[in-house]
Amino acid sequence: MQRHSQLNESFANRLLLWFDRYGRKELPWQKDITPYRIWVSEIMLQQTQVNTVIPYYNRFLEAFPTIEILAAANEDAVLHKWTGLGYYARARNLLKAAQEVMMKYEGKLPLSVDKLCELPGIGRSTAGAIVAICTNKYAVILDGNVKRVLTRYLSIGGWPGKNSVMDMLWREASALTPRHRVADYTQAIMDLGATVCRRTKPDCKQCPLNSDCQALLTNTIDLYPEKKPKKTLPVKHACLLVITNDKRQVMLEKRPSSGLWGGLWSFPETRAENIEASLKTLSLIPLSKKTLNSFRHTFSHFHLEIIPVHIKTKHSNKRIALAKHQWFNLDDTPAIGLTRPVTLILKKLRASLI
Ligand code: SF4
Repeated sequence: MQRHSQLNESFANRLLLWFDRYGRKELPWQKDITPYRIWVSEIMLQQTQVNTVIPYYNRFLEAFPTIEILAAANEDAVLHKWTGLGYYARARNLLKAAQEVMMKYEGKLPLSVDKLCELPGIGRSTAGAIVAICTNKYAVILDGNVKRVLTRYLSIGGWPGKNSVMDMLWREASALTPRHRVADYTQAIMDLGATVCRRTKPDCKQCPLNSDCQALLTNTIDLYPEKKPKKTLPVKHACLLVITNDKRQVMLEKRPSSGLWGGLWSFPETRAENIEASLKTLSLIPLSKKTLNSFRHTFSHFHLEIIPVHIKTKHSNKRIALAKHQWFNLDDTPAIGLTRPVTLILKKLRASLI
């Protein structure tokens, strides 16, 4: 037992020494640390790499510098600042959680793992990171980077998404987290995973754990972390109506708040056999119709084969029949969230490539 705790201490101390010399300390969220700034960064970093996150983080904080301002914002404005970052449920949950923090905690993010986990979009690892970084008190993180370091260092087999493997990783992560300098340790282990113990080509020579890393010693790094068992993703189809008029306007539709691309604006979606009926519902008379090249967008659980159909119509002063549809000037950048396929098609429309 004593040997075990000495080993844990040496693990943390080696990481902290490495962090003092090589760790990143200039990331935007590492300056002027506040629970809100750390929270936003942790949510953005959930499925996205640091370099991609930085410009989005800066723009988001510029638009919504406090929880109060975020809570009062509308969903379109929040999704607009998230456009391109993907996994939009993160943005919708951030907004909902900010509103809840205003109502329940007078605008102060509660710094307890249990209370944070009750807020939309915050799981155990994110809560652990927020508490550890903001309070320097004992709390445990187990994000993708930490899982990679631990599965390799301890040669833990099995896919980390499996409950039994996850439980073991939480036990190990909890035992290895020190009781002192917890904030630095949390940054250190995330940093090590991101910059040294990388997914491909880990830089083991520079790693402070290389003297007793089990995967390195047994030359089995490629086996950890074990990959998710492969499933063939189903393919679904969607027909997107790219409707433009002679005033250089394009019609977009706001999607329902929950579900696929929830709350984002997209082209009206229909089935290939229902195009005429959909146009009728929108009270539009097509002047021309052209099917464009189809392309594939892959979600975590299925592929979506998208068939865009360009419909040209005449501008009309008649109100659009359905409130969720609106005309937008093609050359404007409205403050709304857009799906990635729409962003790509709009780019082509603007450049008259369609
Ligand atoms: S020695 Fe290599 S594989 Fe092991 S933890 Fe360090 S970087 Fe990762």
